[in-house]
Amino acid sequence: MKIYVIGGGAAGMMAAIAAKETNPDAEVHLVEKNDKLGKKIFITGKGRGNATNACDMEEFFKNYVTNPRFLYSALYSFTNYDVIDLLEKNGCRTKTERGDRVFPVSDHAYSITDALKHYIKKLGVEIHYKTEVRAVTFKKDQVSGIETSYGKFPADKVIVATGGLAYPSTGSTGDGYRFAKDAGIAVTETYPSLVCLTVHEPDIFRLKGLTLKNIAVRITEDNGKTYYKDFGDLDFMEDSLRGPVIISASAVLTKYLNAYDPSKRKLLTVHIDLKPALNDSQLDERLLRDFQEFKNKELRNTFSNLFPSQLIPVFNARLEQKGTDINRKVSEVSRETRKVIIDLIRNFDYTVSGTGSFKEAIVTQGGVSVKEISPNTMESKKVKGLYFAGEVLDVDGYTGGFNMQMAFSTGHLAGQQAALT
Ligand SMILES: Cc1cc2nc3c(=O)[nH]c(=O)nc-3n(C[C@H](O)[C@H](O)[C@H](O)COP(=O)(O)OP(=O)(O)OC[C@H]3O[C@@H](n4cnc5c(N)ncnc54)[C@H](O)[C@@H]3O)c2cc1C
Repeated sequence: MKIYVIGGGAAGMMAAIAAKETNPDAEVHLVEKNDKLGKKIFITGKGRGNATNACDMEEFFKNYVTNPRFLYSALYSFTNYDVIDLLEKNGCRTKTERGDRVFPVSDHAYSITDALKHYIKKLGVEIHYKTEVRAVTFKKDQVSGIETSYGKFPADKVIVATGGLAYPSTGSTGDGYRFAKDAGIAVTETYPSLVCLTVHEPDIFRLKGLTLKNIAVRITEDNGKTYYKDFGDLDFMEDSLRGPVIISASAVLTKYLNAYDPSKRKLLTVHIDLKPALNDSQLDERLLRDFQEFKNKELRNTFSNLFPSQLIPVFNARLEQKGTDINRKVSEVSRETRKVIIDLIRNFDYTVSGTGSFKEAIVTQGGVSVKEISPNTMESKKVKGLYFAGEVLDVDGYTGGFNMQMAFSTGHLAGQQAALT
């Protein structure tokens, strides 16, 4: 039996491993257009390689945004602990950190790729580097092979593990969607996810490079319905908000923000609560204490205990926009003005103009429709012998190792099933 796996990312490498483990007599080929395997793995977990998450299965499913139920068989048949075990057995020792995120002990993502590559070679998988697959070929409703930059190759089984559209510089340029469409398989609309939210307010430029820790965000529609709430860290970029709280929010909002004409959708506002640990009366006491300490100064010069220095001029400018005289002596500041200050601390708002692009997105939302794929085998329901695994599928998760695990589990199931019959 001849099996071709297209794409040497997390899903493709695991598919090749599972195929060869299941059927050592099968001829398994791993075809990658880059000159190395797992280019995207190198940048996961900020280069430290977030291989998976050590939480329990119940928790796992809560961390997928799109089609979590489709993943039941895949995640149960090759779990997070199976991934850890495979990595450890092949020389990549792992450790678990905050949020149950699993990393190599080396703190280098290449330890994951090295372990997988070592095992792939040991099993006897044939790797074809710098080989771009241009098409998957069919005979009626049965896969017949692949066409690459070097010619046509017959195959009994083909596993498409080409990734999505996120971070195309790593090689994922959406080719798998084309292969699916050529086979008559539906592909749902794709959107960049786990990405920054761009905002309208020009004052964000002055906050570029600032990180706020332990803030709360609430994202509302026209100040009404709450779309998203979270607590954590937030980064200011030149024209966008980033950081863990925003990245997660983007997974919930990307479809809404990208599918509709901006003039037709409602305005979304990110309300940043700069001091969520203090209630209003504690915050008022805190202001009074600071005003006492700076009693001979103007209001604009009294926030140095409360905020990082980069934030203060922007905060003052916003206070002024609300009609507050920031040049008034702090001893003359009324209770009413303190209320305005507290309201601004609670609602340091930005209005959302959209999301960042695929170029900077961590994952793709949308992809090969899971309605067309058997969840127990990852095989197309229409075309025999054609399998899909990893980010190319219409499944996506939050940050924390869930996307890598999804790629490993679906890749493993596809490889194993393709090698069986
Ligand atoms: C910056 C960044 C940080 C991330 N951090 C994390 C994290 O911390 N935790 C986590 O779980 N996930 C993280 N992810 C997401 C995770 O890396 C991906 O979801 C996962 O790697 C997807 O694996 P895949 O094998 O499906 O696709 P990919 O890794 O994209 O692999 C697809 C492979 O197919 C190859 N290919 C494509 N088309 C062809 C073709 N026509 N012919 C031959 N080869 C082809 C590509 O070159 C590529 O090597 C991160 C992603 C990014 C971009």
